[in-house]
Amino acid sequence: MIDLHTHTTASDGRLTPRELVRAAARAGVTVLSVTDHDTADGLPESLDEGAASGVRVVPGVELSAHSGGADIHILGYFIAAAEPGLAALFEALRGSRRDRVYRMVEALRSAGVRLDVEDVWAEAAGGTVSRTHVARAMVHRGIVPTMGRAFDRWLGRGAPAYVPSNALSPVEAIRRIRAAGGVPVLAHPVLLPDDGIIPGLVRDGIEGIEVFCREARPSEVERYARIARDFGLLMTGGSDFHGETRFGGDLGEIDCPAEHFARLEARASSSGCVRPAPAP
Ligand code: AMP
Ligand code: MN
Ligand code: MN
Ligand code: MN
Repeated sequence: MIDLHTHTTASDGRLTPRELVRAAARAGVTVLSVTDHDTADGLPESLDEGAASGVRVVPGVELSAHSGGADIHILGYFIAAAEPGLAALFEALRGSRRDRVYRMVEALRSAGVRLDVEDVWAEAAGGTVSRTHVARAMVHRGIVPTMGRAFDRWLGRGAPAYVPSNALSPVEAIRRIRAAGGVPVLAHPVLLPDDGIIPGLVRDGIEGIEVFCREARPSEVERYARIARDFGLLMTGGSDFHGETRFGGDLGEIDCPAEHFARLEARASSSGCVRPAPAP
């Protein structure tokens, strides 16, 4: 079983990297990519536990980019996490995510909801802070009954405390992943406002598309597989496991077919260490 999309406490997952890898081993996952939001901090422990548990851990990341009002998540596989450009990007994103929490808390306050930023930092516990942590803090404070309610009523697009994630463009996200030897893949295309965004991402250098994801119905999997073939893109798949049943899937719920993982791996190893951006 191959699961190429998972989160840990280094971002908004519930399990520590070690717990995640152990849970994956129990679930029968043999190849696991740890793809935390905007950080590689969970990778050393994941790789260490992978070696101990007999799970092959693929170093990954999920970058949040933003374009034309749409959130575009770009997965990066086989990244060299210590590459200075990538490390600098993570640091910059950490700062902009913190600023965003202040703005969300301020927007909540303007709407008459009192939440302390300290509550949010406590939820994130030093990892990449996201709306997930704001939502958890709101549940813990009794402001909303569930995280889903926090997103629908307050934090989701168009809601009173919605603040877009950051100014990272998809082309920049793709460039940084390639420069760190990684293979950039469009995450959960089914969540995009429309498929019209995809050709531009291909021009920007995207190399794969997450065809197998839990939000996609069989007809949608078929559609993205066709798009992948038309544009010559790699196909990947994963559960987007967060350790919470209400958002993301279960470990191994989505199995990336081995032939597609083999192509991804071949692409990464054929590219050497630094992958230049494509000519414009
Ligand atoms: P952010 O990166 O701060 O924009 O937060 C986005 C994260 O919120 C995603 O990675 C999901 O894990 C989580 N999320 C998005 N929508 C929902 C929802 N309706 N319920 C629970 N979690 C959600
Ligand atoms: Mn998440
Ligand atoms: Mn995502
Ligand atoms: Mn994800």
